[in-house]
Amino acid sequence: MAVIGFIGLGHMGGPMSANLVEAGHTVQGYDLIPAALEVATRHGVTTVASVADAVAGADAVITMLPSGKHVLECYDEVLAAAKPGALLIDSSTVDVADARAAHERAVEAGFGSVDAPVSGGTAGAEAGTLTFMVGGSEDDFHRAEPLLEPMARKVIHCGGPGNGQVTKMCNNLILGASMVAVSEAFVLGERLGLSHQALYDVASISTGQCWALTTNCPVPDLVETSRANHDYEPGFAAALMLKDLRLATSAAEQSGTDIAIGRLATELYRRFNEEGGGDQDFAAIIKSVREHSDS
Ligand code: NAD
Repeated sequence: MAVIGFIGLGHMGGPMSANLVEAGHTVQGYDLIPAALEVATRHGVTTVASVADAVAGADAVITMLPSGKHVLECYDEVLAAAKPGALLIDSSTVDVADARAAHERAVEAGFGSVDAPVSGGTAGAEAGTLTFMVGGSEDDFHRAEPLLEPMARKVIHCGGPGNGQVTKMCNNLILGASMVAVSEAFVLGERLGLSHQALYDVASISTGQCWALTTNCPVPDLVETSRANHDYEPGFAAALMLKDLRLATSAAEQSGTDIAIGRLATELYRRFNEEGGGDQDFAAIIKSVREHSDS
């Protein structure tokens, strides 16, 4: 069993660290927010008062922070205090360039390093069924895999440093665009007199089938697992979808890739966030489609 420093005990990091404790690891957890520390303590995490205390003597350090800026700032302290040769695993969703910068700094300072963002949301974090998309060397992947397993349904090696983030971004580009398309299809159908049930019965077994339709359907009462059944309480918040779509559009600009649908989906989620929808599940974008349709 390993000693793991865990930094960022929020909606995701809280339950992820609890699953590591459950698997028998010693977890030294740190967060800026006292309430997050209290919850983690109740789940058996040894909570500490600084990043330096969290990484002291740890075999591996996992970061689960809001953005690349937070990760890079936190790495200043991690690199100064972590045990030589420790494995640094960043599971936050961050810009590919930030992920590669963090990796370079870690490797130069003599640490192992992987980016390992996740898919599966807070429900996956709680159930220990996240998908980890890992970027880094073969060796570092094999070191990370057993540590990630108690939090995971799947741990997939996606290539070199930063490729975990590239994979996450591309996956969420598909997800954001498909949620908008499914929402538009339901609203168009309802305005033309088609029942939600009829569209669902056909599309869910036809070529329109996708996760946004059959797992997190934006219309309530069609799919058991949908956040629409819970008044669009997230789940995966629209603010986080906007964050991920912005990462994709910025990477597309940097690489000269024409992602026309991705840019449009980003604009629609930007508008929805601006209109106050950011705290709702990203499936609530259907409300925005209705609101912006002619009455
Ligand atoms: P969150 O805001 O709930 O948690 C982040 C935590 O980091 C907060 O508790 C904050 O206090 C802490 N923090 C910030 N700076 C810190 C520092 N310097 N030292 C210690 N703690 C610090 O966010 P979350 O929903 O847990 O998401 C975390 C990451 O996971 C994000 O990058 C997000 O994009 C990604 N993600 C989230 C979901 C989801 O459904 N929530 C799904 C997949 C990926």
